Amino acid sequence: MLLDVAHRRFFLFGAVFNAQDIWLTFFLLSGIGFGLVALTAVAGRVWCGWGCPQTVFLEGVFRPIQRLIEGSAAQRIRREAGPWTVERIARRTLLWSIYLVLALGVAHVFLGYFTPIRGLWSMIQAGPSESPEAFAWMVAITGVTFFNFAWFREQTCVAICPYGRLQSVLTDPDSLVIGYDEKRGEPRARGKVKAEGAGDCIDCNRCVVVCPTGIDIRNGLQLDCIACTRCIDACDDVMARLDRPKGLIRYDSQQGLHHEPKRFLRPRLALYAVLGLMGLGATTLAFRTHTPLRGQPAAARRAPHTLENGNVRNAYDIHLVNKESHRVTFTIDPITGAPFAFVIPMARVTLAPLVGAHVPVFVTIPRGSLQGDARIRIRVRPEGEGQPRTIEAPFLGPSR
Ligand code: SF4
Ligand code: SF4
Repeated sequence: MLLDVAHRRFFLFGAVFNAQDIWLTFFLLSGIGFGLVALTAVAGRVWCGWGCPQTVFLEGVFRPIQRLIEGSAAQRIRREAGPWTVERIARRTLLWSIYLVLALGVAHVFLGYFTPIRGLWSMIQAGPSESPEAFAWMVAITGVTFFNFAWFREQTCVAICPYGRLQSVLTDPDSLVIGYDEKRGEPRARGKVKAEGAGDCIDCNRCVVVCPTGIDIRNGLQLDCIACTRCIDACDDVMARLDRPKGLIRYDSQQGLHHEPKRFLRPRLALYAVLGLMGLGATTLAFRTHTPLRGQPAAARRAPHTLENGNVRNAYDIHLVNKESHRVTFTIDPITGAPFAFVIPMARVTLAPLVGAHVPVFVTIPRGSLQGDARIRIRVRPEGEGQPRTIEAPFLGPSR
């Protein structure tokens, strides 16, 4: 995958696209977007908790390193409540140095989507003065990555991410969410021994302490919940120790949490799924029918046709674009036979990747032989394994 914006060339999974193919992104993005919306209607913020790079990097890379260097959350809280000792400064310096190296790595990999990776390596070797623009991008991305993972963290999900802000309109009472079973948990017991009439929640606050966004899920479904499921693990642990059934906090629909009947199929889910499938279906079709060459015929602008010695003559201009990632030689020859006569001065054209050329084609026919709405057909054959393409255009003549 390479998004070569500077040269307007986009390499995706072996196919090459140029700026004229930008319409494909509409179907691709709408298919992915509605697919995600359908997934949200079924499983809530499962993307946030398990698929989003923000969560994957934070939970899979940055937080484990922090635990290794600064200890558990409780140890960190204790240390941060105290003064800046030499040990605390040393731990923080080591942590942030590692974060900085990781942020630099992320920035270079990210730039690799926009610059060929060998070119990027050459830029690194040549130094910042040789490619100041790329260097500025690298510094900016490193800075944002470091700031995000060292400090901002879940605030990105809560305050910046537009997907998070849309949750309340995408989910309904049948969507799976992380929720607290109020019927079972309330009224809260004060202690491990269950008092008469008390619920299963012992108000130990473990679910609140582990929450990365600092919310109390017992207050109901909240925008700030990123579905990380830590509160489920914490509460299940408490329930297991008390020998009570797990699942006081669990993955369930709001209907399920209220002990009401649940539905899976509902109109909004069908609508999201149909829209998502339409987008992805159109994208698949477009990828399958995407041809490695573009050939557009156009009648010459000055005169659509001319008369010469009793012959009618049309001039065409075929705009060829090589959409392969390598040089290709094209052969252009007529399919339409006599009485049409073709003159193709550039019958063989070699083009570099995504380079275009205008190929003139002249076609004549005796005026007396021209009947009805005539059309001419030309074949453009790429050398090698490429499929030939037929180009068709109307042949214009004087009105009778
Ligand atoms: S700990 Fe629970 S309430 Fe907090 S973000 Fe994770 S899933 Fe949501
Ligand atoms: S972890 Fe479970 S028992 Fe403890 S406060 Fe949260 S919901 Fe109640």
